[in-house]
Amino acid sequence: MIHEVLRAASFAARKHATQKRKGRDASPYVNHVLEVVEVLARHGVDDPLVLQAALLHDTIEDTETSLEELTEVFGPEVAGFVMEVTDDKSLPKDVRKELQIRHASGLSVAAKLIKLGDKISNVRDVSENPPPGWDLERRRAYLEWTRAVIAGCRGVNPGLEAHYDEVLASGMARLDGALPPAPRSPHFHG
Ligand code: ZN
Repeated sequence: MIHEVLRAASFAARKHATQKRKGRDASPYVNHVLEVVEVLARHGVDDPLVLQAALLHDTIEDTETSLEELTEVFGPEVAGFVMEVTDDKSLPKDVRKELQIRHASGLSVAAKLIKLGDKISNVRDVSENPPPGWDLERRRAYLEWTRAVIAGCRGVNPGLEAHYDEVLASGMARLDGALPPAPRSPHFHG
């Protein structure tokens, strides 16, 4: 149970070890997958297979990890959930984004939960800690795109969906200038 989930956390930390997030603070990539699994657990998701897949959700898309390796180490169910949320990188980016919208409603419940957690983390990053060079228009377009993807992922966890709505609304408000910019680090009080 818990050790299976932690094994996935350790695997993800190794696979993403040299990667940084695109945001201006360039935080370690693994922070993102930990944020995703934490938000799912906080909203009552307790299936270890779903939590493992949440931790591993970017390994095939963004690291040198194959479907075969994930299947061997974590089993076909976890690997299957990860595949459901993995974009085909041989396609152009705009096509991949369009396919995420089109495929969302046909995903398994597990994959919808992971999408919700992933978009919550990404919306927060793009509104509070955007990649350098992303202007307001691009950040707003990103938030709108997640809204379209998540429209297809509803009906699986009302609390998590309400949390996404809150994060999206406060992100939009921040971009509209209604909220002050986030402090660089919430833990820095100097
Ligand atoms: Zn992700």
